[in-house]
Amino acid sequence: MQLMKFNNPHSFFTALQAGQGHPLVIAGPCSAETEAQVMQTAEALKQQGVHLFRAGIWKPRTRPGSFEGVGSQGLAWLNRVKRELGLKVTTEVATARHVEEALKQEIDVLWIGARTTVNPFAVQEIADALQGVQVPVMVKNPVNPDLALWIGAIERFYHAGITDLAAIHRGFSSYQQTKYRNVPLWQIPIELKARYQGLPVIVDPSHIGGRRDLVFPVSQKGLDLGYDGVMIETHPTPEQALSDAAQQVTPARLAEIIGQLQVRKSTY
Ligand code: PEP
Ligand code: MN
Repeated sequence: MQLMKFNNPHSFFTALQAGQGHPLVIAGPCSAETEAQVMQTAEALKQQGVHLFRAGIWKPRTRPGSFEGVGSQGLAWLNRVKRELGLKVTTEVATARHVEEALKQEIDVLWIGARTTVNPFAVQEIADALQGVQVPVMVKNPVNPDLALWIGAIERFYHAGITDLAAIHRGFSSYQQTKYRNVPLWQIPIELKARYQGLPVIVDPSHIGGRRDLVFPVSQKGLDLGYDGVMIETHPTPEQALSDAAQQVTPARLAEIIGQLQVRKSTY
């Protein structure tokens, strides 16, 4: 089997923030809810120099009865963000059909959610749908703390010919009550980063912390460990969000967080 090597200085993710001296910032709402909410958020984030706009439209939720996303219609809203604001856009895909629809609407980057990364057949089906297509893919860690499963998912895309890959650390489920929604278990992503030098690793403090007040400290911890960027859920009225209301921040708060984050020398 071909061993993964990531040493491309011209990778999509490196180029996005090249020469700016600050980390890659991915931001946007947990879910696209309405066209107006998407546009309003994207306009604010564009002014802050966010590199990549995120919004979930197909939302795999843990329990039935939660908001499961607006579906395909949201792709047109993301396409509008791209055309009118010139921002690159990303959304979560969980099936081959999602991939097909997202590519038709020229979504720039796809991401694989934690509930998909755990399922090799689902990941392979998505990777197969990407054969012959050059689109950057970000792979979130699986919900359970299993580094091999995370690497396995990344390998499936690598072997499908995807060269622009990134890993997103969103923490791991635990039955124990902790201050985090998903425990970070930092040693797992640190090991991933050490094994695959050049693979961009992005911290998702929103899903790790599950609380607005943890977004800054968890982001800073990721940067202190040498992570390449942050993914922060941002909503114009977080308390009213249809998903993940407790962890989203306003665009104004995001600006403060970005302004306070420091890139320090790696401490591990
Ligand atoms: C999300 O990014 O909104 C999401 C559903 O994340 P995860 O797959 O990490 O739970
Ligand atoms: Mn979310």
